[in-house]
Amino acid sequence: MKLAFQDAPDGLLSLSATKLLTYKRCPQAYSFKYERGLTSPSAFGSPKFGNALHGALADIYRDWNYAYPLPSLDWFAICWQQHTGELSSTQIHEGWMALQLYYERYMAPLPQIRKPLGVEGKIKANFQVNNIEFSLAGHYDRLDYFGDGLELIDYKTSKIVKPSDGIDWQLGLYNLILEQTYHQALQRLSLIYLRQGQRITYDVTPEHHRQVRELIGDLAVKLRIDQEWEPEVGGHCVRCGYQKYCPAKSEKLEPIPEGAKEGRQMQLVLGL
Ligand code: SF4
Repeated sequence: MKLAFQDAPDGLLSLSATKLLTYKRCPQAYSFKYERGLTSPSAFGSPKFGNALHGALADIYRDWNYAYPLPSLDWFAICWQQHTGELSSTQIHEGWMALQLYYERYMAPLPQIRKPLGVEGKIKANFQVNNIEFSLAGHYDRLDYFGDGLELIDYKTSKIVKPSDGIDWQLGLYNLILEQTYHQALQRLSLIYLRQGQRITYDVTPEHHRQVRELIGDLAVKLRIDQEWEPEVGGHCVRCGYQKYCPAKSEKLEPIPEGAKEGRQMQLVLGL
């Protein structure tokens, strides 16, 4: 038996770590975002700074001439200048400081760099759990060869070093996708905090693989039968953009905006 869902173009359920984590934290927030299609104001301000740094690092690795062993800091400056057009002078300065720190910590000590398998890439794979077929999709900042497998690199531009919740789900999900896409196992995931020049690395274990398949299977069944998207109040509410619609957090509820989707009885579109 293969379950088909109304709105998935290929009849599959699309899944990502972000959606999975949103649901796990709070089904009500999940419903607002993915069922009703409500936008949530970002708590983190303009994404321009992060986009500029990600863009510069992508160029640094993608456009480098790998006939030469190591880029110079000048190469970093050239790539950075391509992405500063919409930034304030403070942001340009902070971004350049972050890139210099990156260069000192992660580039200059190397004898040479190896061309990544991919830079700012999108990946997708299908798999089946509990007789439900999922479509998994995600994107990555950089994908490197590591040992006899792969390493994912995720750049962070936050002002504090705070690994995101649900990192285990991300490891498990990315592993599922990469195994199918590249036929190589994900060995580890590294978060690089650019402002602080700090790297946190997680090793992928068989347990991640097992856990994520189990969770997705359980969640699939639960989502199919969920009639009520229950609020799950917790520390995460502070950063929730849906508080004004949430019966658990607001005594004076604002009406759901006109034009919001009606929602569906069956839903499973999750994303990394
Ligand atoms: S405010 Fe809290 S309980 Fe309400 S939707 Fe947001 S995360 Fe869920």
